[in-house]
Amino acid sequence: MIHEIRKALQEEFAARRARAKALGETKRQKAYVQCPELKYIEEQLNALHILRVYLKLRKPLPNQVVETMKQLLPELDQGNAVQVEASVARLKQRKQALLDQLHLTEQDFRPVFTCTLCDDTGFLKDAPMGTPCNCAKIILVEKLREKANLPSDLDTFARFDASLYPDEPNAELYGIPQSPRQHMLKMKEICETFVERFTCSDTPNLLFVGRSGVGKTFFSSCVASGLLEQGVPVLYMPVSTLFKPFAAAAFASDEEKEMLQVLKDLILNVELLIIDDLGSEKQTATRYEELLEILNTRELNGRKHPCKTIITTNMTPKNLFDTYGERVASRILGTFDVLRFCGDDIRLKRKMG
Ligand SMILES: [Zn+2]
Repeated sequence: MIHEIRKALQEEFAARRARAKALGETKRQKAYVQCPELKYIEEQLNALHILRVYLKLRKPLPNQVVETMKQLLPELDQGNAVQVEASVARLKQRKQALLDQLHLTEQDFRPVFTCTLCDDTGFLKDAPMGTPCNCAKIILVEKLREKANLPSDLDTFARFDASLYPDEPNAELYGIPQSPRQHMLKMKEICETFVERFTCSDTPNLLFVGRSGVGKTFFSSCVASGLLEQGVPVLYMPVSTLFKPFAAAAFASDEEKEMLQVLKDLILNVELLIIDDLGSEKQTATRYEELLEILNTRELNGRKHPCKTIITTNMTPKNLFDTYGERVASRILGTFDVLRFCGDDIRLKRKMG
């Protein structure tokens, strides 16, 4: 699978570069149609550049070069370096004048890259060789998301409909003094702030608790789309698949092992990890040590770069202690801000899915 993803990445970048070049080339061809002299001058300049190289190296001119030069610049004494330089200068000046008339610059004909940090190579230009660009990470996460079978249509805060939440306070039923609507508007604000202040070191991890169908997945999806829009890599993992890369890969092929390693690195390092529906995994599939390793490693990585986690769960804090034990539960409750979600689940389930 890693081979597949790597190939898909390379193909994506090759396609982007081809598109970038084509965009520049199309503009050039358009300019040639408007001004055929520009085309002629560029041909002359290109030929002169080749001639210059031979003169500098003091190598005899190949017949083809001699013939091309005769056609393009019949007056020129091909062996006379001073004359060659004078022609280059004159043609460059003329070219500039033509570009000015067309309101264009040489820059307009250059490839129009999607990402100017890496010129669509996937590796940063102004960094040690082989440093991956953020855009490569985003595509990688995107490809992984495709492989993980996650919804491609992410929700956004703009789609949040407060009217789905009851406006009547009922402390006994909802466990909060204010109405669910007021409460959820506050939750929305907290989630939006999380997106806005994502890179700040004091932005906390978030734990979404509440019954099924009250909007936990919807909100985590909104946060994911908000960050993806800003170019922040996000990895969305249902808890049922979270532990797979950590399980013994004894029977995996070498390629699969490499893929699992990539996925494991992402789980530990990706800027935002969303663990969806903690507690819904089969009890036998729960891996407490691995969960602790994920949370601890991400906490450590968070000191070097943004490395935040959102967990959604139907469990109450008490359930967390009972199911995952003291070490895991206190790690979560100690380093996550708890956001309680409430409302009438049936109505919300129908409308928000
Ligand atoms: Zn890039």
